[in-house]
Amino acid sequence: MKVPLLDLKAQYKTIKKEIDEALIGVAESQGCILGPEVEKLEKSLCGYLDSKYATGVSSGTDALLIALMAIDIKPDDEVIIPTYSFFATAGVVSRMNAKPVFIDSDPVTFNINPADIKKLITKKTKAIIPVHLYGQSCDMKPIMEIAGENNLKVIEDAAQSIGTQYGDGRKAGTIGHIGCFSFYPSKNLGCFGDGGLVTTNDETLAERLKILRVHGGKPKYYHKIIGGNFRLDAIQAAVLNVKLPHLDSWTKRRQENAELYTKFFKNSGLSEEEGKLKYDEGNKVLLPKAVYKNQDLKYYHIYNQYVIRVQDRDALRKHLTENEIGTEIYYPVPFHMQECFSYLGYKKGQFPVSEWCAADSVALPIYPELSEEQIEFTVKSIKEFINK
Ligand SMILES: *Cc1c(COP(=O)(O)O)cnc(C)c1O
Repeated sequence: MKVPLLDLKAQYKTIKKEIDEALIGVAESQGCILGPEVEKLEKSLCGYLDSKYATGVSSGTDALLIALMAIDIKPDDEVIIPTYSFFATAGVVSRMNAKPVFIDSDPVTFNINPADIKKLITKKTKAIIPVHLYGQSCDMKPIMEIAGENNLKVIEDAAQSIGTQYGDGRKAGTIGHIGCFSFYPSKNLGCFGDGGLVTTNDETLAERLKILRVHGGKPKYYHKIIGGNFRLDAIQAAVLNVKLPHLDSWTKRRQENAELYTKFFKNSGLSEEEGKLKYDEGNKVLLPKAVYKNQDLKYYHIYNQYVIRVQDRDALRKHLTENEIGTEIYYPVPFHMQECFSYLGYKKGQFPVSEWCAADSVALPIYPELSEEQIEFTVKSIKEFINK
């Protein structure tokens, strides 16, 4: 049995007719950039996320970059970000010539620990970028409180969390000042290339984001500010307009798959419960925990990734690869240990939780079309390795 980490062809098969028609529609219209498909997508996502404004952009990375431009980040401003995230979160801060200030992870959720933020705030701190990792929301209430007290802007990196609910029911990306989303094909809502979105409830920021998307020109060819080419293609929006109505059912399948993993891990004697933080006889595999699950939320966790922790992770991965089971590490090196950030002067050992996550975590296949047999087989293969 083969268990790929992700099978985008399986998803395409289920919506092929609608997608093909949408692609041909764009070809025939030859309206290739922005236009009605992008406007339709922005409107639908405002509704889906319950956000006042949404602006389609060229990628999730560009969503973060344009957000920093919109809040007018200046050279030497400090931006507090997790040390454990996809590279884009840190890259955009440096590209603005601002200074990334790293923060450690919460050991249960892998998200930032709000308790650590306060001591990092200086006169130069301008913004915080909480990342809703793997499909689960950061604890936004204390983050927004600290930001309010210190006059900081909050840019949510919700690239992995489209539709995710925070404990109070609001959706990730609509709680801070600007929310950033990615439509990279491996995200829960993926297009056929690169694409992204920024959301905000602030009219002034919304207007700035729209102008920055087209080189800062308004009207066209008259520039008060400097923006860039952050436009979204019509063809990507057309694909997303077909996919969006399916997103909730796909999310449900991902949640069901996570339940199945828990069941099989428990039955196999490898784990006693979700969210354990210490290895022992009954917990050789540490399972992810959805912290808002018991609050009657539909989207407590959307499982963009299902990430377990095990000792001897690299040897386990090798074993799973031999059994044709796809895995990935999100992420093997925290930012503070990346060569490109050595100029910031951080040291190994400074963020022990993130370093532990980087050393022991591994993502298992969780995509919606995965079968129960594939999940059972994956757990069986892990058990085979651990009991060897
Ligand atoms: C995917 C991702 C991004 C970047 O999105 P792209 O569309 O690939 O540019 C940013 N942050 C996080 C956390 C991501 O997972």
